[in-house]
Amino acid sequence: MAKTLSVAAIKEGTVIDHIPAGSALIILQLLELLQGKHRVSLGINLSSSSRGFKDLIKIENRALTEKEAHDIAVFAPQATISIIKDYKVASKIPAKLPKAVARILICPNLRCITRCEQIETLFHVEEHKQQVELRCHYCEKIFERSEIKEFRL
Ligand SMILES: [Zn+2]
Repeated sequence: MAKTLSVAAIKEGTVIDHIPAGSALIILQLLELLQGKHRVSLGINLSSSSRGFKDLIKIENRALTEKEAHDIAVFAPQATISIIKDYKVASKIPAKLPKAVARILICPNLRCITRCEQIETLFHVEEHKQQVELRCHYCEKIFERSEIKEFRL
């Protein structure tokens, strides 16, 4: 059976695969790819052998750092992140959940002190029954990741 690529192969860069369907845009924001100069190919609602549908992002000429990979894991715990060199997978970074996420997430609690003062946000990441929960360091409220919709970029 012929193998077809939904999104064109890239020569150098990063492929983020197995993103839960619908989460690719958050990751684009997280990595500041919309403002950047790197060419990005996007696959949304691609069929996935293991879990129905998935999103996929290919970023040309940009290798993600381990820290970025961990930030991605908050939104896509099953993601596979491959660094591509000369059309081949040179290395894979496991999308391991970080213990905490600093700066990028904005606390949804309107009464949280981080919303009115210039404080970098900090969320503690906890996993319960495969659900990622984020606990604000300042107001101590716990949020599911889908509840956090604003980012500081
Ligand atoms: Zn808070």
